[in-house]
Amino acid sequence: MGLHCSPGDKVVCKIKDNKIVNVYEETGCEKKVFEIISIHNNGYMIYIPSNYFLDGSIYLSSDNLRKYKIDKRFTDSYVYFITEHNVVAIHSKLDGMRCCECDEFYPMACANFEETKLLCWRCRHYPMYR
Ligand SMILES: [Zn+2]
Repeated sequence: MGLHCSPGDKVVCKIKDNKIVNVYEETGCEKKVFEIISIHNNGYMIYIPSNYFLDGSIYLSSDNLRKYKIDKRFTDSYVYFITEHNVVAIHSKLDGMRCCECDEFYPMACANFEETKLLCWRCRHYPMYR
């Protein structure tokens, strides 16, 4: 299975007991949006905000930044490794998304419809003209 996201994209993950769990986990989960900051070992490194605690977060020192191919502005931050199996939905793509109705491309678009799709303003408000 290929990777569907790139650094800069934001993804929705499920959290249970301070860990990010598989998308199929159903009970007692909280959903949260995280930003992907690098691709690593067929998965992603996501940024963990400093006020947020997850078991298994990785502290970025100047030594392991290079190993994870992460920009040095993230020194002293925490990251977390996830795979496609942890991505519930794509929240936004840095390079943009296509409207699911008219196929128009919108840079820096966010999913606004059924969690993973973009429905553009025009299609939402004037469905008779599409
Ligand atoms: Zn549209």
